[in-house]
Amino acid sequence: MFQLFTTQVYKSKIGFELKELSKEIQQILQADIKGHQWSEKNYVNGYTSYGSWDQLHKMSSTFESLQKKIDRHVYKYCEMLNYQVKSNDIAMTTCWVNFMPPGSLHTAHIHPQSIISGTFYVETPPGTSQIKFEDPRLGFFMNSPDLKPKTKATEQRFFSIKPSPGDVVLFESWLKHEVPMNCAKKPRVSVSFNYGWC
Ligand code: FE
Repeated sequence: MFQLFTTQVYKSKIGFELKELSKEIQQILQADIKGHQWSEKNYVNGYTSYGSWDQLHKMSSTFESLQKKIDRHVYKYCEMLNYQVKSNDIAMTTCWVNFMPPGSLHTAHIHPQSIISGTFYVETPPGTSQIKFEDPRLGFFMNSPDLKPKTKATEQRFFSIKPSPGDVVLFESWLKHEVPMNCAKKPRVSVSFNYGWC
């Protein structure tokens, strides 16, 4: 048996001062008027700085030190993926915050024009939504039988990861993913980013 063309998703813990980061995210949330306008049209029931302040690693020393920590995990992930890249070939290109109150969601999407994307989790209250990945071959399965109910989670058509504060999740930017509705009683707070060619 050969396991061919596998999709690898990376998860690890990052030691980081989350209280300080949370405080700074709250300040961004209050100050970013353009971001709220953008989010109203593009990020229903939530707030993201993706359409306004998407280079937070260049605007804030807190985010810059987070970027340095994430860099190490991205290089490790590149090794796992057998990417023929040197550490200075790719770098964080964009970095933004996501604030998802109860009832908000983020529909399925990819991150075009990037190589590796990911999220660092800051606040994940009980019952918060997971990040859900879709099998990239889904469109080829139209005549395939359903999978047995007991199929291993990693062999199913969708795979979800339950995040905890301090977790970083990395994936190749072409991999479709979504955040189902946040059914927790408190907001789900995270920092997302893309890595691309320097
Ligand atoms: Fe995303």
